[in-house]
Amino acid sequence: MKRQILIHPDPRLKQVARPVADLNDELRALADDMLETMYDAPGIGLAAPQVAQGVRLIALDCVKEEGEAPRPLIMFNPEITAASDELSTYEEGCLSIPDQYGEVTRPAEVTVRWIDRDGRERSEDMAGLWATCVQHEIDHLDGKLFIDHLKPLRRQMITRKMQKLKRELARG
Ligand SMILES: [Zn+2]
Repeated sequence: MKRQILIHPDPRLKQVARPVADLNDELRALADDMLETMYDAPGIGLAAPQVAQGVRLIALDCVKEEGEAPRPLIMFNPEITAASDELSTYEEGCLSIPDQYGEVTRPAEVTVRWIDRDGRERSEDMAGLWATCVQHEIDHLDGKLFIDHLKPLRRQMITRKMQKLKRELARG
């Protein structure tokens, strides 16, 4: 089932999400819905707070090459356990901030630990787009958006555009 994606500004996007204590069918259903919502958007990552669920859960698939097999990842309680000194700058966007982009600098490689859909603990080194994306999504779990990495003026400009977009959407 597709879920509605919250648009910035929204107080629910600013909250720190709570860790998942027990994996249950409800949480697995939420994870599946998030993948469906993400692919439909289309996007390469989605965090539970973006669909108004304050739990530490993200979905991502950063395979971008045409014809390459999809690689959907569901991560409960994802954590960065190591990050490279080397940095990488990428022009990021966000499904909660449609059509707005900004350059964000983050560690180029990270090690991520998480609980998968079957409740197993996993760990993986990520680089390139995957590293950028997983850090962007984990930021969401801490109430942080990519525009929080931008200069205040640029952030305010984007926020005003989003307020205008939301007024237009509300009018229908
Ligand atoms: Zn985002």
